[in-house]
Amino acid sequence: MGKEIDQNYYKTEKHNILIDGVASIDYIKNNIVYEVKKSDKQHEMGVNQLKYYLHLLKLRGVDMKGRINYPLLKKTEDVVLKEDDEGIIIKNLEDIEKIIDLAVPPEPICLNVCKSCAYYEFCFS
Ligand code: SF4
Repeated sequence: MGKEIDQNYYKTEKHNILIDGVASIDYIKNNIVYEVKKSDKQHEMGVNQLKYYLHLLKLRGVDMKGRINYPLLKKTEDVVLKEDDEGIIIKNLEDIEKIIDLAVPPEPICLNVCKSCAYYEFCFS
């Protein structure tokens, strides 16, 4: 579905802009970073993903706003990186580093969101 949206919407925009090989922005237009989602079921994850991209750009001296596009729902949502968000992102990145440094990863906890996550097979098979 994601590929279908990629091929049929926003055809004139430059797609998949990489930031240092760690993040892939869907596209940028008029100084707004766009993230395209097929549904808003994982709304919070989409917002956090976009805030992370805005954080990466800010670290590189680029201050931008974000917008999530839901083309199938015909709606958009503006996303702004606030000071509080940056503290949370930094803390989350530190927590991720600690997990990466473990000899054995912790057992995954299956949440509702896991069932539709692209990494489900990695975590639970
Ligand atoms: S499936 Fe794994 S990666 Fe996906 S949300 Fe669940 S624990 Fe996280």
